[in-house]
Amino acid sequence: MNIHEYQAKELLAKFGVGVPAGHAALTVEEAVEAAKKLPGPLYVVKAQIHAGGRGKGKFKELGPDAKGGVRLAKTLDDVKQDAEDMLGNTLVTVQTGDAGKQVNRLYVTDGVDIAEEYYLSMLVDRATGRVALIVSTEGGMDIEEVAHSTPEKITTITIDPAEGFMPHHGRAVAFALNLDGELNKQAQKLSKQLYEAFMALDCEMLEINPLVETKDGNLLVLDTKMSFDGNALFRHPDVAALRDETEEDPAEVEASEYDLAYIKLDGNIGCMVNGAGLAMATMDIIKLNGAFPANFLDVGGGATTEKVTAAFKIILSDPAVEGILVNIFGGIMKCDIIADGIVAAAKEVNLSVPLVVRLEGTNVEKGKEILANSGLPIVPADDLGDAAKKIVAQVKEAA
Ligand code: GDP
Ligand code: MG
Repeated sequence: MNIHEYQAKELLAKFGVGVPAGHAALTVEEAVEAAKKLPGPLYVVKAQIHAGGRGKGKFKELGPDAKGGVRLAKTLDDVKQDAEDMLGNTLVTVQTGDAGKQVNRLYVTDGVDIAEEYYLSMLVDRATGRVALIVSTEGGMDIEEVAHSTPEKITTITIDPAEGFMPHHGRAVAFALNLDGELNKQAQKLSKQLYEAFMALDCEMLEINPLVETKDGNLLVLDTKMSFDGNALFRHPDVAALRDETEEDPAEVEASEYDLAYIKLDGNIGCMVNGAGLAMATMDIIKLNGAFPANFLDVGGGATTEKVTAAFKIILSDPAVEGILVNIFGGIMKCDIIADGIVAAAKEVNLSVPLVVRLEGTNVEKGKEILANSGLPIVPADDLGDAAKKIVAQVKEAA
């Protein structure tokens, strides 16, 4: 799960991390009020969307010469103008895709006099089973380019979670950033605070870009992105409450309401499967047969008619879907119950694309009978390979 920049900064501040003062705003008036609470004379008006690259982004409605989604403002009138420009409009950045994202929230912060911009991030490195702390002196808006063309300017420090953050990790960060004296000490302290926040909140990723050295000699987190391990969110109701569903794919939000594990993909064959492993195998076998899955969907062990219907609707809400493959193993759930669910759901949603169903397990014969007698054009399949071949062929035929 991702959160907004202002939410991440509020969380980090609780761990002692230095961030510029700021206030979130939902309206132009709130943005101006937010600025009035800050000391001035420089303010920063920042679009809050779950995507980076805002500074260099462009608003669809404003034309190519307008400023982006991070703007320095010198007067309250400028803050008002920037807020009017941004709120309700669509910001397109390198991370949003062409559709862009509508800006519904702003963050108005105290403008900082920047001396240097650095980069620092942490993530769970699955290859080592440890936390990777990545730092670079080349912070700012072009870190992807730095990683691409001058990878030697990026230092990775690995932290074993069993050992925890040690003083040498902090020194390594300060050394990689080329910092001396007071700033060196600050970098050590800051990286320890960030690691503590990362672990305590079960983060998946924490990125600070830029981490800035101010002209008066302090290290501040100027921009940050944080994402959390969804499986650990139950331990952090305060973090879970920060979820902004308007930033997420509506089909994925709907799926989570029915406790369905759904992830939208780019292909044209919708998949409805029980069990994550079987769902992965189903996606693989669709690809082996020359087509691409439109989604990952695990209906879980206890799929009810209601759940199966919701799953059908969610799959079909994707206009790219040209056929559906249902692959269910009736273990705890019996095949006849599942077949009833599929028939009821197919009738309710007025199924308009080919549907191939492969059932296996308890009461499979009864299940197949229900499908055959349903009067619906459901194509039965005997095994995984057969099912994939059939759905790919059906979609080709229909095209
Ligand atoms: P991003 O474009 O989404 O990564 O948004 P950032 O928050 O990183 O802002 C982009 C850039 O705007 C930063 O790299 C800075 O160069 C600049 N910027 C942001 N806040 C300030 C500020 O307080 N003072 C100054 N001088 N520049 C800022
Ligand atoms: Mg940034």
